[in-house]
Amino acid sequence: MSARIIDGKAIAAELRGKVTMEVHRLRRDRGIVPGLAVVLVGANPASEVYVGSKKKMTVDSGMRSFDYRLADTAGESELLALIQRLNGDPDVNGILVQLPLPAHINSQNVIAAIDPSKDVDGFHPMNAGRLATGLPALVPCTPFGCVILAKTVHASLEGLNAVVIGRSNIVGKPLAQLLSAENATVTIAHSRTRDLPAVCRGADLLFAAIGRAEMVNGDYIKQGATVIDVGINRVPGEGGKSRIVGDVMFADASAIAGAISPVPGGVGPMTIACLLVNTLRAASARAGLPLPAI
Ligand code: NDP
Repeated sequence: MSARIIDGKAIAAELRGKVTMEVHRLRRDRGIVPGLAVVLVGANPASEVYVGSKKKMTVDSGMRSFDYRLADTAGESELLALIQRLNGDPDVNGILVQLPLPAHINSQNVIAAIDPSKDVDGFHPMNAGRLATGLPALVPCTPFGCVILAKTVHASLEGLNAVVIGRSNIVGKPLAQLLSAENATVTIAHSRTRDLPAVCRGADLLFAAIGRAEMVNGDYIKQGATVIDVGINRVPGEGGKSRIVGDVMFADASAIAGAISPVPGGVGPMTIACLLVNTLRAASARAGLPLPAI
């Protein structure tokens, strides 16, 4: 049996379509145009690509996009001053500082300087705390997208056994909290977990957010499980070119799983779509409007 492929590209396109409709409605009924400011420090080629597609999709959805580029020699104080300015700018509803930052800048100081109501990455300790305590929050985009993908397979996640491999602040931890809020029974696995394949074989929902190319093979997967692959790993490909693979060995896993998200074309497109959802939500909240039902 071969697993159903979870088409993140199509699901993300549908989500962006809903955002576009809500942005249009906000502009028509309230004269509000949500704005997203993206700050890039230095010239990291991968970050340039991410920032370029974020900008395009922001504009395509009818929102305003504001681009800020600082040289990699820019100091932390310069970046903090820019964030203060964006915090006070009424046209800016979302602020995203592209990570990683150059080593001389403390990312935690930068994240903490962002107004939590404009923190569309959901990394501010205030939003992390609100998520952990079950209060409404701007939640990190990648885990947000993972849960949406899982819910395209299972109408409800209630009572399902979920295993999240990875416990980073960006993916694993917030993902575990979102799944718990969906009433799944959640296990967080990591590099010190004993007999990881056996732990994973207990999962109805398996999320791999590790950063190790194709580590999760068929031995980790329960028959019929739903597998969401968060990993983005660059490995040598044919003709000296590199290619992107996930944390899951796709062919092996799809022979056992019931449903599986591919890399590329799974979680990746969802991350940007959820960034747009967060920006729309931030703009609605700032205007005192109810959150759009997306
Ligand atoms: P981190 O490096 O911050 O975290 C990796 C996690 O994996 C850690 O918790 C680590 O455990 C765990 N881990 C590492 N090796 C093993 C192992 N051998 N067995 C079990 N667990 C292990 O990575 P991120 O969370 O930032 O990212 C994870 C992956 O997701 C990466 O490939 C990244 O590129 C990708 N990603 C994709 C996004 C997207 O949009 N699709 C967005 C963000 C990330 P420990 O805590 O013990 O060290």
